[in-house]
Amino acid sequence: MKEIILAKFGELVLKGLNRRSFEAVIERNTMRALEPIGKFSFFNVQSTIYIECEDDGPFADTLIARAKERVRDIFGFVSVSTAAATEKDMDAIAKTAKEYLAPTLSAVKTFKVEAKRSDKRFPLKSPEICREIGGVLLSTFHHLKVDVHNPDVTVYVEIRDRGAYIHCGREQGAGGLPVGTSGKATLLLSGGIDSPVAGYMMARRGVSLSAVYFSTPPYTSERATQKVIDLAKIVSRYAGPFKLFVVPFTHIQEEIAKHCRSELFTIIMRRFMFRCAEKICLSQKGGALITGESLGQVASQTIPAISVTGEVVSIPVFQPLIGMDKEEITRISRKIGAFETSILPYEDCCALFSPKHPKTHPRSDELVKEERHFDIDALVDEALRESRLIRVDYDGETVEVEKRYD
Ligand code: ATP
Ligand code: MG
Repeated sequence: MKEIILAKFGELVLKGLNRRSFEAVIERNTMRALEPIGKFSFFNVQSTIYIECEDDGPFADTLIARAKERVRDIFGFVSVSTAAATEKDMDAIAKTAKEYLAPTLSAVKTFKVEAKRSDKRFPLKSPEICREIGGVLLSTFHHLKVDVHNPDVTVYVEIRDRGAYIHCGREQGAGGLPVGTSGKATLLLSGGIDSPVAGYMMARRGVSLSAVYFSTPPYTSERATQKVIDLAKIVSRYAGPFKLFVVPFTHIQEEIAKHCRSELFTIIMRRFMFRCAEKICLSQKGGALITGESLGQVASQTIPAISVTGEVVSIPVFQPLIGMDKEEITRISRKIGAFETSILPYEDCCALFSPKHPKTHPRSDELVKEERHFDIDALVDEALRESRLIRVDYDGETVEVEKRYD
């Protein structure tokens, strides 16, 4: 008996997308995610990817269990199950069902069998398969009763093109679209709770990410940067490996603090962040920025503040958390495993120089006037020239690359 993973992608999701390229992307994402776990083979039939472990040794079960955990987080799959694979022969199916389901069926009182025969050449029809396998299980596990309405366990027998499969139901997959099917965007990733969640949510819509973090040495420490790298790694579990640019922001912040009215500090700083991020995004052939604002959460997240920040760039800014409460955002942060890292107490550059009374209704003309104090392009280019590029990968090491932004 061989245990395999069946990962199913939704038909609906295919609407409007080119089916072949969609499948190629989800297959590539799956192979890449499982590569660090072991050697697997992949077959794609009937909107399902069949994943088999090539290692037949004593660790095959563990490898399949680990692979399933991983596949559950891959965007584009609506459901994931592990199943026992066997030949399309009733004796083999009965024998496999008894063996494979023993631990599950020993622990429950009632069950039913559902059969699905997508290979119509199989001689028995679905109700006959149910009756026969149900009978075998009843005569093997004497404590069991059939309950067709409300069973403790439903046993599924699927007769498909490649073989027969037996399992006890599917778990929900991560949903969304495969990363890489909706273009590229650059996430402004800070060390907080919100931006990792924003990145996760856009990756779930199929966007492939790059990210930028603005650090303010020596006011922010190397530990604060490490925290952002750790968060980026967590996001890459879902979004796949991506590039993180660490942009030194000290000179820009000092210049703003020196030349601008303090109540406008935050908003002018954010306008500089957006300008830098847009350049990075375009260099990565991306088409949008992603940030973690939630309306009204802080002074820089009012409609006028968001509006004057966005106007310095010409690409769209996606703010997937804009209508969410902190509680909802925190729930997702916990679900994706980022929360504990996000709340580590390392200072974030925005906390420095921050005015006591930031302006909540900044006007565009007053900002433009304040910004006349600077050579904006020169400051942006200097920061980008000095940025570091880090390749972030969930399973692998993060690798710092000599080559920086260009
Ligand atoms: P977060 O929890 O993501 O830090 P926040 O609630 O602290 O967000 P702000 O500080 O106003 O809110 O930042 C809003 C958004 O701007 C962040 O979600 C993030 O996308 C971006 N941002 C803020 N600071 C930085 C930074 N140092 N580097 C990169 N992006 C940043
Ligand atoms: Mg923050």
